[in-house]
Amino acid sequence: MSTRTTVTARDNAVTIRTEIGSKHLKSNKQYSPGCFGKIEIVDHKSAPKWLVWNPYILHGYRVQLSIQESFKSIFNLHNETGNIWTHLIATLFIPLLLLFCLFEVIPEESLINQIAFSINLLCGALCYLSSTSYHALGCHSESSWEFLLQCDYAAIILANSAATCSSIFFGLQCFPKLQFFYTSIGFILGSSVLIILIGPVVLNFKPKHLDLIELIRFPLLILDFAYGLVPFVHWTYLYGINSPQFSVIAPRVFTTYTFMFIGFVIYYFKIPERWFIGSLDIWGNSHQLWHIFMVLGPCYTYGTSLLFLKEVRENPC
Ligand SMILES: [Zn+2]
Repeated sequence: MSTRTTVTARDNAVTIRTEIGSKHLKSNKQYSPGCFGKIEIVDHKSAPKWLVWNPYILHGYRVQLSIQESFKSIFNLHNETGNIWTHLIATLFIPLLLLFCLFEVIPEESLINQIAFSINLLCGALCYLSSTSYHALGCHSESSWEFLLQCDYAAIILANSAATCSSIFFGLQCFPKLQFFYTSIGFILGSSVLIILIGPVVLNFKPKHLDLIELIRFPLLILDFAYGLVPFVHWTYLYGINSPQFSVIAPRVFTTYTFMFIGFVIYYFKIPERWFIGSLDIWGNSHQLWHIFMVLGPCYTYGTSLLFLKEVRENPC
């Protein structure tokens, strides 16, 4: 994200905050105790402007910390604590889940299937690690915040593409041509979204181009997430809605997309803090809920992949 784009976003945020007024504000400066000592937290007016990206979060901002202090602040209470821990726990959990699956659930599977399953989970873990780093270390400086934000976007796109491609790979095992076709499209779509969203920022395009990127980011991410429905519709056509496969898989796909949809709505409309301004600065705001839904959705997808494998094992092509 460019400086100009960032400025536009945070100007909007500051404008909304000004309209909100100061009646919701707690004291201007506070100290948050933690395992490695206390840190200073401030309200949005005293916070570094690049950190003020949610106009409904009024307090709990860390001031510019060193990298070491930022790491330590993981154990303090501030308005990024929930964002950090929701994805830090997922970062630690996914590799353990992968080891459990490889040794206990699919030890008999072919090497290619184990690799495909592993890539999906490892991309998910990378995404959560990238998100954790962004929320934990972004308060260090504006340049580190921008760099980590781009890494976060890139990791989200990568993890989503891996989840989509692995679902197609496992779901269409009995249809190799379709498997190749839809996996290729998924790969090309993910790569294109990555290049369109990240490329101009890396190459430092003019601000007007970067404003356009800001505008199309959300629709493009939605498109990237929604693509997986296309091969699923084709899969439904191949097996039929009365097949036992459909009755097992369809509710899981529906649940996954419901998690994603709820997560996107909460994220986009900043629910519920827009209704409880200043009350959900530390816990219970939209970004934390979005993080949780972005863990539930992919975890459900991992289970669906295992079901696809079980189905082909029990009913060979
Ligand atoms: Zn986040």
